[in-house]
Amino acid sequence: MDNNKNEEKKKMYLSIAILVLLVIIVAGLIYMIVNKKDSQDNELAYTDLIKQLDNQEVEEIEMTVGSTTVKVKRKGEEEEKTTIVPSTQAFVELVQQQTENGNEFKLIQKNASIISRASSAIFTILPTILMVALLVIIVKMQGLGDKGKIYDGKENKTDVKFDDVAGLDEEKTELVELVDFLKEPERFKSMGAKIPKGVLLYGKPGTGKTLIAKAVAGEAGVPFISMSGSEFIEMFAGLGASRVRKLFERARKMAPCIVFIDEIDAIGSRRTSQSGAESENNQTLNQLLVEMDGFEENGTIIVLAATNRPEMLDKALLRPGRFDRQITISTPDVRGREEILKIHSKDKKFADNITLKGIAEDTAGYTGAELANILNEAAIVATVNRHDAINQDDLEEAVKKVSIGLQKNSRVISEKEKQLTAYHEAGHAIVGRFLNTGEDLKEISIIPRGVAGGYTMYKNNEDKFYRSKGELEDKLVGLFGGRAAEKLALNDISTGARNDLQVATQIATDMVTVYGMSDRIGPISLEKDEQINILGENMGDAVEEEIKALIDNAYVRAQKILLDNFDKLHLVAELLLKKETITAEEFEQLF
Ligand code: ADP
Ligand code: ZN
Repeated sequence: MDNNKNEEKKKMYLSIAILVLLVIIVAGLIYMIVNKKDSQDNELAYTDLIKQLDNQEVEEIEMTVGSTTVKVKRKGEEEEKTTIVPSTQAFVELVQQQTENGNEFKLIQKNASIISRASSAIFTILPTILMVALLVIIVKMQGLGDKGKIYDGKENKTDVKFDDVAGLDEEKTELVELVDFLKEPERFKSMGAKIPKGVLLYGKPGTGKTLIAKAVAGEAGVPFISMSGSEFIEMFAGLGASRVRKLFERARKMAPCIVFIDEIDAIGSRRTSQSGAESENNQTLNQLLVEMDGFEENGTIIVLAATNRPEMLDKALLRPGRFDRQITISTPDVRGREEILKIHSKDKKFADNITLKGIAEDTAGYTGAELANILNEAAIVATVNRHDAINQDDLEEAVKKVSIGLQKNSRVISEKEKQLTAYHEAGHAIVGRFLNTGEDLKEISIIPRGVAGGYTMYKNNEDKFYRSKGELEDKLVGLFGGRAAEKLALNDISTGARNDLQVATQIATDMVTVYGMSDRIGPISLEKDEQINILGENMGDAVEEEIKALIDNAYVRAQKILLDNFDKLHLVAELLLKKETITAEEFEQLF
């Protein structure tokens, strides 16, 4: 870390110090005034609290670390009462026992905020507090801050089940295995099966990654400990790493359990140079790797991590024994959206003629979180309009409201975009049908996935390492099916073909320079650029011409296939626009 930054930090901490002191004093005064007024009638005797607990009348208890004062909210009552408990330890045990006996109430655990503690004792221990506050700041300024309490991962039992996660059927199937592992680790271990340690969930924010991770814990009945990657990033050297250590210390005690790290790219992005924030980052990442590598002897801990930027991740994270499984959580298609809407409409009142299907059709590209948001907005709109139930107009207004927010982020897919994508993917599929690439179609979709606007997915046929020239040529034709269809059907082209063009150019180049498949160049490997010179001056140009010829030929062939099946192209594209995802069978039926 360079000196400038340190200076800045010191200054910052000094101002924070002054601010903290001011706040302490003001808070103290306020506390005094407020307390004077209503401390009397707001007290609840400890024995009464126990009685209320026994009778299951308590709705909420708020405890503060290091304080014997707890706040209690009784069911059906608005205001909180305070109780002084004789011993925090004893009270915690009591609360635990109550919870185990099935008494349900909300338990809020608060860290002693400096403010609340200080203000209650302001006049007796003010000088001490000042000293402590300053000490803390000095310690922090020297970067020794990781000695204190730093673990603050959220953890709880979750009762989320797979049924609460709409759509995502394949993803759920993959995760069911984890549930089994967590439930009966011994059975797998005795069979010699290695239990997976880490699973990465890729997907846009709001697609339900956290939800599905919670569902895994919920189905297995194990604790769910979660933390966000950004929370690991600290100003002080070593603090991030220490947080990771504490998190896993906790997890080992609670195993079997799920550790969920959201935004893992915040700590797991590629390691580069060794300066400043980055080296801090590296320490944090290294600690995470160390923890995951050390799992074997411990109980079953499965780490689920989520990111929206898989390309940013450090490769070390993806090695075997770490996050060696990856699941893409895509934005829902029209059926998925309808199911999500169904789940989130359960506790809402709807008019009889409401069709969630219609809403699902109007919301291509929306994530689960956004759909949930729409229903909530609709309920608000209906309430404001004093309707007895949410009607179609309320829903449409809500869709508009939410979309305007989204349009600002250009996240909504326009009709034009959808159409281009539909023709693009239809083009791939149709051209592919008349080729010999050895790949079987699985499904076609115009739902965005990763960076792609849509996708044409093939069944995983066995990987082939040796391909014939004919197969490679066909592969090229297939790749151009997308671009060619856009051009022929809409007389426009899009950026959607970027990846296709990259792959095609690479294949054509390899055919000429690596596999010696061009007659003109002959069977010579030109993998290293320098060799082109050895072979005479014209070689470079000849190579380029050969690559260009392969590509042009392929493009022409793709166009021809599409023109021969132009009616089918329209049919497939139209079906895609209607259903968003179509299966290989539905596709074949059109022929
Ligand atoms: P992420 O972790 O991918 O950012 P979340 O899991 O936090 O997304 O999703 C936010 C909210 O959106 C969820 O709590 C849930 O209400 C809703 N949601 C998202 N996806 C789904 C889904 N597939 N089924 C039901 N609800 C969903
Ligand atoms: Zn394409």
